[in-house]
Amino acid sequence: MSGDRQDIRRLTKEELRSFFVSQGMPAFRGNQVYEWLWQKAVVDFDHMTNLSKDLRVLLANHFSINHSAHAQVQRSQDGTLKNAVQLHDGKIVESVLIPTNTRSTACVSSQVGCSLDCSFCATAQLKRMRNLNPDEIFDQVAMLNSQSLEHYKRPLSNIVFMGMGEPMMNYSNVMQAIEKITSPEGLGMSPKRITVSTSGIPKMIKKMADEYPKFKLAVSLHSAVEQTRNNIMPFTENFPLASLRESIQYWYAKTKTRVTYEYVVWKGINDTAEDADALVRFCACAPAKVNLIEYNPVGNDAFAQATNASIDMYINALTSKQIPVTVRRSRGKDIDAACGQLANKSTA
Ligand code: SAH
Repeated sequence: MSGDRQDIRRLTKEELRSFFVSQGMPAFRGNQVYEWLWQKAVVDFDHMTNLSKDLRVLLANHFSINHSAHAQVQRSQDGTLKNAVQLHDGKIVESVLIPTNTRSTACVSSQVGCSLDCSFCATAQLKRMRNLNPDEIFDQVAMLNSQSLEHYKRPLSNIVFMGMGEPMMNYSNVMQAIEKITSPEGLGMSPKRITVSTSGIPKMIKKMADEYPKFKLAVSLHSAVEQTRNNIMPFTENFPLASLRESIQYWYAKTKTRVTYEYVVWKGINDTAEDADALVRFCACAPAKVNLIEYNPVGNDAFAQATNASIDMYINALTSKQIPVTVRRSRGKDIDAACGQLANKSTA
């Protein structure tokens, strides 16, 4: 479809300006095009209405806009909207709009499938994998923003990188997308409203602390007992808890913002008093809060939601040490849009 034309969204603003200069035109045309692409999120040269018809034809002759498209939208009883988004090469990722009374949160994917192997997560079961490009991440946010305006009459208030994939394994593209999302020449969202969630890649947590200290950090911990964590998240063999702890201390020293631990309590896996104590001790390394997430079954019999008594035991252990804890009810469960359920089922 795009032939050998270059994808215009791969160009920096400077490169766009240079293109116009090379065509004997003023450089500011590049700024205009940049704003159409990243502030107004248009995906058709003909919608760039402050450019003459000739200029739009010139652009279309040289470039394509390899944008994503909505493949399917499912609506949950609780108002959550799950989108299957088709990428220009036909692959599908999912993104979710989660409304509350006052907020609209976008849950965005960073990879097709996932590089990691958490055994309780549906995304990890997908075989094919590639990183999303910055514009593919941006497109999800732009689409969810329009969807929020259309359905809930307000723009997005928050973005969480808690969809498919591991953002820290696609760090550069995720950060390039966030730059477009936060810059005044892009969507202009506050970096404080963006949460990057990671399964815990210590080196990358430190890198983000150095480069993007304004973002929020969430770490999917699930166990503070080394052997248990290795069992349920096998990739962590290479990333011991000690180095994770050290990277989180580094994060706090640089940012002075507390980390959020995502944590599911499972029957027979991490539901003892020792497990809760290990979490409390881990939380002592740097200011933190804990989100106890409801387990969403993904067809692995080894995992089942712990009893309410075990959850209460965790809450008591944490609150007795003044560690903030919230119990998060799943949203969008009826349409497989909840945490860990994103697996392109609609297209399987
Ligand atoms: N890879 C990143 C981003 C994905 S976020 C990360 O792990 O943080 C998705 C969140 O849902 C993570 O906290 C993940 O551990 C959690 N999750 C995965 N499968 C789940 C399931 N079946 N039920 C509940 N939460 C799950």
